[in-house]
Amino acid sequence: MILGIWVHPWDLIDNGIENILEELEKHGFNHVSLAVRYVEERQAFPGQSLIYRNARRKTYLSYRDSIFWFPSSEYYRDIPENIRPKKPSWLDRDIVKEFRERIASYNLKPVYWLPTLRWDKIAGEHPEYCVRDIYGNIAGYKAQFLCPLNPNVRKLVLNVVEELSCRYEAYEIELDYIRYPEPVTHSPSLFIKLLQTPCFCDNCRKYYESIGINVDKVKKDIVDIANTLLTSEDITGNTCNINDPECSTNLLLHSLYELINRIEVSKWLKARTEIITGLVEEIRDKTRQYGVKLSADLVPPSHSWFVGQDYEKLSQILDIIKIMLYTEPFHRSHKLIPYELSIAISKGVKEPVAGISIWPPSTPNTIKRDILLAKPLTKSFYAYSYGWAPIANIKAFIESSKTG
Ligand SMILES: [Zn+2]
Repeated sequence: MILGIWVHPWDLIDNGIENILEELEKHGFNHVSLAVRYVEERQAFPGQSLIYRNARRKTYLSYRDSIFWFPSSEYYRDIPENIRPKKPSWLDRDIVKEFRERIASYNLKPVYWLPTLRWDKIAGEHPEYCVRDIYGNIAGYKAQFLCPLNPNVRKLVLNVVEELSCRYEAYEIELDYIRYPEPVTHSPSLFIKLLQTPCFCDNCRKYYESIGINVDKVKKDIVDIANTLLTSEDITGNTCNINDPECSTNLLLHSLYELINRIEVSKWLKARTEIITGLVEEIRDKTRQYGVKLSADLVPPSHSWFVGQDYEKLSQILDIIKIMLYTEPFHRSHKLIPYELSIAISKGVKEPVAGISIWPPSTPNTIKRDILLAKPLTKSFYAYSYGWAPIANIKAFIESSKTG
């Protein structure tokens, strides 16, 4: 039974590492995931953008691609200078090292939480590493994701994993953002979403063609159907939208029917998931050399295939799978929790870890409700996150996870 919580490094810096570890042990947690690098994010969003548990500040903007260990250049000689991890100039403490050393005195497992393919700063400054959509635009909201097939991106990720495993004696490495970005559109039509779905960079195009996929046919099929849908007066006139259940259902059914007849698009979707799976496999081979556990934070399985995550394959490679089942802050239905967990189990995940949103607008009652719904299917829970949650929410999480 895993009871874990995600912790941001600035909370450790501001509150004191021992203070937080002591508190988490007292509450009854047994796993602590520390972000060893982080992406640009206004804390805490969506919600009130307030952090509750930090002793020094009530709001924080995490800087793009900040890393919290002191990297050794010997691990990064085989990649271009412009993507090598560098210690931020403002950081004078090796937080990962201190965390690893101090946690040994507590009954808590240390987890290195690693955003894997989202590197905002590299993506912003060096578009040659980014994922591309069907029109060649950088895909995803705010252009944050690197292409998992780019050889230098793969080396970067593997070198980071190697350094954390070896020099920083990792116990478990947790891969976050091990996926393609979500499409920006909220249209329920798969074909409109596919217009924004990567990756069509030169490396990916060459790879698809080497395995017999006709990339031009994939693009033509997607564009043809999307054009038909987008030129329909019902959509452009805003009469058909996702808030109308009948419109949503019909658009989705129409898309699925069109997809059934388009084998090339299906082959391409499968190839994308194989690229992500292949990268996770390479990372696993690396962590195994050092006896390090490997876990990942996955999108719920009903739609994980859209971002390239194949639960069936990943459940055979990863030691632990954490599923982000966030509800209140994203206005998502709690009723999906048992449904998503059931799919994960049917795909081979033995003990899925349910990732629970504990930051406002989540309340003690919504947290208890979410955990109660998950309980018949798992006993393992993870809370997002320490800094973002009022103490009453953390207590509700612990009490409802432990009881029953
Ligand atoms: Zn690509």
